[in-house]
Amino acid sequence: MRILNRYTKTLLTCLLTSLPLIVTAQQDIVLNGKLTQGSLVRGQVAPGSSVSLNGEPVKLNAQGKFVIGFERDETLSHTLRVEKPDGTTKSRQITLSKRDYDIQRIDGLDQNMVTPPASVLKRIRRDSANVASARAGDSDNDAVFTRFIWPAKGPITGVYGSQRVLNGDPKRPHYGVDVGGPIGTKVIAPVSGTVTLADDLYYSGNTLIIDHGMRVFSTFLHMDTITVSVGDTVEKGQQIGTIGETGRATGPHLDWRINLGNKRLDPQLLVTGSPND
Ligand SMILES: [Zn+2]
Repeated sequence: MRILNRYTKTLLTCLLTSLPLIVTAQQDIVLNGKLTQGSLVRGQVAPGSSVSLNGEPVKLNAQGKFVIGFERDETLSHTLRVEKPDGTTKSRQITLSKRDYDIQRIDGLDQNMVTPPASVLKRIRRDSANVASARAGDSDNDAVFTRFIWPAKGPITGVYGSQRVLNGDPKRPHYGVDVGGPIGTKVIAPVSGTVTLADDLYYSGNTLIIDHGMRVFSTFLHMDTITVSVGDTVEKGQQIGTIGETGRATGPHLDWRINLGNKRLDPQLLVTGSPND
């Protein structure tokens, strides 16, 4: 009973603070994060173990820490398997809760689709290649294991996973969390990292990508100004620019996204409270 209490207490502490996960003899796998669709989950096992999720290898850092992520429409049942340095194995079943996304159905619209002029198609292709290479790194930066904070103050004006269905045609879901604010509102780094892209892109305007380590990246869209450059190290809380409405934006807002490699995850699940606090 005492062991169980200690286990529960440590686990709760980790969940509440997002601060250093410590594996004790009683715990083979510690997980920190919400077990739901769209979630980034951080974990730790004994250093030198190997971990797989549904049979796919998961990268571990020297401390035995790792990151896994579940996409918007991910299936709910997963198996995390750990092989410890002594060769023994442990499996943990993960059951995600299913999310209800905000789906807006709008019918009776004119079918005049807005397609980009041929002249910009080349630029759009170049933009996506640059974004992909800015998110290709696999650094051991430990920042991703620390607590994230909201990157701007303001009301939430758009959420992850929301989708419009126009005349029965489902559009691409929204993968960021939007914080509305007047142009010039300060934007800060939600956690520390290294800048891998700072560029003016056709759709997303002034766009900034920060590598937080272990293939986890923040992307900020539609910024008015960007005050850091590629290669810069930024500290959590440091100003990185201001809110804008550059690119194809409807009104000034900051669109913050989180990627784990190619997986698009919900930034809002990483922060507590509201960006208005
Ligand atoms: Zn947005």
